[in-house]
Amino acid sequence: METEDSPIMHSPLFITQKGNEVICELCPHNCNIKSGCFGLCGVRGNKGGKGIIPFYGYISALAVDPIEKKPLYHFKPGTQILSIGFYGCNFRCPFCQNWHISQSSGFANRMGSSSSGSFIKPDEIISSSIRKRTPSIAYTYSESLVHIEYTIDCMKLAHKQNIANVLVTNGCINHKAAVEVLEYTDAVNVDLKCFSAATYKECLNGDLQTVLDFIQLVYKKHIHLEITTLIVPGLNDSKDEISSAADFICSIDKDIPWHLTAYRPEYRWNAPPTDPGFLLHTANEAKKKLSFVYTGNIAIK
Ligand code: SF4
Ligand code: SF4
Repeated sequence: METEDSPIMHSPLFITQKGNEVICELCPHNCNIKSGCFGLCGVRGNKGGKGIIPFYGYISALAVDPIEKKPLYHFKPGTQILSIGFYGCNFRCPFCQNWHISQSSGFANRMGSSSSGSFIKPDEIISSSIRKRTPSIAYTYSESLVHIEYTIDCMKLAHKQNIANVLVTNGCINHKAAVEVLEYTDAVNVDLKCFSAATYKECLNGDLQTVLDFIQLVYKKHIHLEITTLIVPGLNDSKDEISSAADFICSIDKDIPWHLTAYRPEYRWNAPPTDPGFLLHTANEAKKKLSFVYTGNIAIK
């Protein structure tokens, strides 16, 4: 794959000027970014009073996966998908399984540096997908939506080649940005990390209502939708909370697939791994409300 230095782009989307500061309105953090600093995601910054996205096109991973690994079970089943990943995230999940790239320390401080990842132009991503004969591309691994400019640039080119676009996301972006990116999106897997506004806010640095709104918007736009919840002991595994999440999904459509996946200790969360028996029991309970409930990350004997 050919690589070259990324341009430092000075015209990111969803940025407004306020004197020498910029306000990023991409996600509910609405970061007020001072000159020489980055927003919470470490991706979108301010250089000399202008909004910048110096990591446009810096890719942390490029791989071909079975689409079921995303996980998507009801969209182009049995096919391969080209998966691309970025750096940075607008959340701070203490159990993040991809924290090496989502929370990469120092990333935000390398203002203008080209030392992180490989720069790959959007048309090279599409060429790669054509060469590898993948009928779809996933924007995944960390949080693609904080790289919305690059994601949309790839998505537009993909559609010209009849390649489908799959977003794997925490779903925590503001409405205007969600509408923009969903215009080019064919399937989404949204992480519904828990069903507690307090946990979203205090533990994950996210916003439950924004995620719920995003899920409803995806459904209303008739975009293929699946939902994933990593069951993290001590964080989101109470019977009431899981039941409320199932009720919410059911209130939209009981046929939306729900993936309940097992956590393993990672990053800053040291609780023991999710008990497989508990996960299976939880899935069986959810099946009383929903048509398609799957378990993941466990070996079933
Ligand atoms: S996308 Fe990043 S910079 Fe923009 S509001 Fe969210 S966390 Fe802040
Ligand atoms: S939203 Fe996903 S990538 Fe971001 S910190 Fe949480 S688990 Fe990691």
